[in-house]
Amino acid sequence: MAASDFRLYIDGAFVAGGASFESLDPATGQAWARMPAATAADVERAVEAAHRALHDPAWADLTATQRGRLLMKLGDLVAAHAPELAELETRDTGKIVRETRAQIGYVADYYRYFGGLADKLEGVHLPVDKPDMEAYLRREPIGVVAAVVPWNSQLLLAAVKLGPALAAGCTVVLKASEEGPAPLLAFAKLVHEAGFPKGVVNVLTGFGEECGRTLTAHPLVARVAFTGGPSTARHVVRNTAENLAYTTLELGGKSPVLVFADADLESAANAVVAGIFAASGQSCVAGSRLFVEASVRDRLVDMLVEKARRIRIGDPQDPATEMGPLATARQFAHIEATVAASLDAGAVLVTGGKRPAAFPAGNYYEPTILACSGNAVPCAAEELFGPVLSVIAFNDEAEALALANDTPFGLASGVFTGSLTRAHRLIRRLHAGIVWVNTYRAVSPIVPFGGYGQSGLGREGGAESIRDYTRTKSVWIRTSDEPIADPFVMR
Ligand code: NAD
Repeated sequence: MAASDFRLYIDGAFVAGGASFESLDPATGQAWARMPAATAADVERAVEAAHRALHDPAWADLTATQRGRLLMKLGDLVAAHAPELAELETRDTGKIVRETRAQIGYVADYYRYFGGLADKLEGVHLPVDKPDMEAYLRREPIGVVAAVVPWNSQLLLAAVKLGPALAAGCTVVLKASEEGPAPLLAFAKLVHEAGFPKGVVNVLTGFGEECGRTLTAHPLVARVAFTGGPSTARHVVRNTAENLAYTTLELGGKSPVLVFADADLESAANAVVAGIFAASGQSCVAGSRLFVEASVRDRLVDMLVEKARRIRIGDPQDPATEMGPLATARQFAHIEATVAASLDAGAVLVTGGKRPAAFPAGNYYEPTILACSGNAVPCAAEELFGPVLSVIAFNDEAEALALANDTPFGLASGVFTGSLTRAHRLIRRLHAGIVWVNTYRAVSPIVPFGGYGQSGLGREGGAESIRDYTRTKSVWIRTSDEPIADPFVMR
């Protein structure tokens, strides 16, 4: 896709949008493409198009099986175009091409999964407690969905919203982040090619305050599916005070990884590296707090330091690169400042902690490990969204659990142990929406994803998630031919 080709997708047409901005390449810090920015008027047109499409027979009269086939076709198109989409995501966000290729290839399966679910969504016959009555529940599409995503893993995060929404018969206005919208704007072309009727899917990008606020507060929006940071989520919840839209929130985390002395330490070390240095730590499930049993602390930290120093930092478009730049200069500055504040607060730098000397330009930051005395140090308390691991030692299982749960977040957690009984005890007690045992950072369309506490509200993925895009209608049918007896008594 040429750098000048990016357009909003509204009502089945590719349009320029009322404003535009330069998108920066995180590897060089230079502008590489001009992106459209949706104004309030663009959002208005997109939501109205989605609302019209919801009731248009071209969409409303499709059978669930036909909707499912469209999603399957979209999945096939995503698979066929994964290399171009991956290159765009890498260019616009700095995420390494090695991961964007694999992840977008897998996104195709999410559309296939939800396509398969479309005609499995059943209503239910109710055994109502009245002899002359039948009652049943219909599941109907909830309405126009505002899907708002951040810049990281955006094709995946869009798929877990669009998949169930379209399977259920909703229509969607998808808002890509203003940081790196290229892959979702290119994805809109595949939606068009798949043959969804006009207005069923609209794709915008633009700034939070104008585009995001207008969209999530819009009176014709019935459902908001948001992924992003907790402070933006609070704005979104305030916005939905206007339309009372049913809202799910997938937010950030400060996920703990617990490594016990009886674990396979080599495997645990690799998982810790995957948890914090993959995607340069810009992952909502980043395992950013490592709790390690004191007796193996030094051994594990030595292994991690060795692995961290061997990570190939480089051009994100090079398939050999293992860690690329951070997505934005703002993010780089935030990490620098938080690491400095953590050192002031008593954290000890084990490795990293600066821009790599070989990369004077771009948003590159070294894989960093800090030894901390507890959760109060800024790097152990705040979500950094960067390659910074805080290491804290514990003496026993109770202390490990208390330290792990000592956070307002609760997205993911990891437990590394050779003890099955210990694993089960911790699975029950960890305050998190996901527990990975002897593994980390695994996802699937089949397994729900979401957090506890400040990490969000609701779950995405899995068969249940389609219900969140429906509302039920209770149907009563009287089966008696006798006239209704007493009109003044509730039956
Ligand atoms: P962000 O909250 O800054 O932005 C997310 C989206 O919200 C963007 O599209 C943005 O334009 C929009 N937005 C901003 N202000 C808005 C407003 N007032 N009204 C409506 N929309 C508005 O997040 P980010 O910095 O792009 O992404 C990083 C955050 O996302 C991290 O906290 C990360 O943990 C989280 N995240 C969570 C998950 C998950 O599934 N739990 C996945 C990926 C990222």
